[in-house]
Amino acid sequence: MVERTPYDMAVEQLDKCAKIMKLDPNTHEMLKYPKRVLSVFIPIKMDNGKIKVFKGFRSQHNDALGPFKGGVRYHPGVTIEEVMALSIWMTWKCSVAGIPLGGGKGGIICNPKEMSAGELERLSREYFAAISGIVGPEKDVPAPDVNTGGKEMAWFLDEFNKLNRGNFPGVVTGKPLEIGGSKGRAEATGRGLSFVAREAAKKLGIDFKKADVAVQGFGNVGSYSAKFMEEFGCKVIALSDSKGGIYNPKGFHVDDVEKYKAKNGQLAGYPGAKEISNEDLLELKCDILIPAALENQITAKNADKIKAKLILEGANGPTTPEADEILFKKGVMVVPDILTNAGGVSVSYFEWVQNLQNYYWCYEEVVQKLDRLMTDAFNATYAAYTKYKVDMRMAAYVCAVERVVNAMRLKGWC
Ligand code: GLU
Repeated sequence: MVERTPYDMAVEQLDKCAKIMKLDPNTHEMLKYPKRVLSVFIPIKMDNGKIKVFKGFRSQHNDALGPFKGGVRYHPGVTIEEVMALSIWMTWKCSVAGIPLGGGKGGIICNPKEMSAGELERLSREYFAAISGIVGPEKDVPAPDVNTGGKEMAWFLDEFNKLNRGNFPGVVTGKPLEIGGSKGRAEATGRGLSFVAREAAKKLGIDFKKADVAVQGFGNVGSYSAKFMEEFGCKVIALSDSKGGIYNPKGFHVDDVEKYKAKNGQLAGYPGAKEISNEDLLELKCDILIPAALENQITAKNADKIKAKLILEGANGPTTPEADEILFKKGVMVVPDILTNAGGVSVSYFEWVQNLQNYYWCYEEVVQKLDRLMTDAFNATYAAYTKYKVDMRMAAYVCAVERVVNAMRLKGWC
């Protein structure tokens, strides 16, 4: 069987949604493709004096709701199809979150772990200079993604400011606080996930005080999700990172685990815990499962063995379409990535708003606004879930596509 690219998956999901909502075929056709994909070849002088040419992309899928928005990833496995798919998913993510932004994504084929700080800085600046004609606070607003963060955003911003002779903090989000970042951006995805968890638990009758939670992945999303679920009173009984997992039915103090990981570079060996594999973690007896690591973790092979009542997709694409069907039949609620992990881009939106008005909010204001936004997004999805009698993924898609299509129609695009 030919392997499906992420782009094939994105189109398949759109096709499925189009059928449910009886989408006009012409609009459907338009939504399958990005509006523009820019490929750039970036020559960089490496520390050894040799020139190496890197390939980068910026895909802009749809800006009916507002400027394109989405991260830039640095990874050896980046492909044009992947970046295109991710830009499509960003359109749906922004739309389902109810924010006035469209979908974009960027990527550079590189291995940042093998590059010096100087090489990375030169590559980041040159990439942004190369795409600077199509980005801007009112055009397309990049942000961090895999292997990028505040440091890269600061270089992007500085390069854009120099080229355009001014100060344009709204051209990127996920910036350090000192240069226009927003309070609460770093933990936003995990925080947003916990609000979605609270709303889903209410619908399913899960009492947080008695709920056992397992979290796969201990990066930004996994660690903050675990922390906020613990804050809500849940018992976090299992955690994992790429090297393996730890299990303790009595529950962990996530802060202590974080300190251990910072010191030892891994979770394995944490005192008093049983060591388990990443696969075992998914099949544990628990109420809430949070896959917050990689794609394709819950598949046709293990979906039937899952015991959780509620799955919250912290990662992008952790559940395959085949597994979705099995879980739906079993009555397990899977809250999809485009809704569950939309907290990151939502606080990016808040950052952009603060940049444009040049007035900055306190931490409490950010958290309160994020709570409102995620709660509304969950409720709109849940309403579509009951109306169309589909799974939560398709319900979120229907909400997202409907809003984008309405904007396209009003603008006379279709
Ligand atoms: N890269 C993150 C995402 O995929 C954040 C994007 C953003 O903040 O624009 O949701």
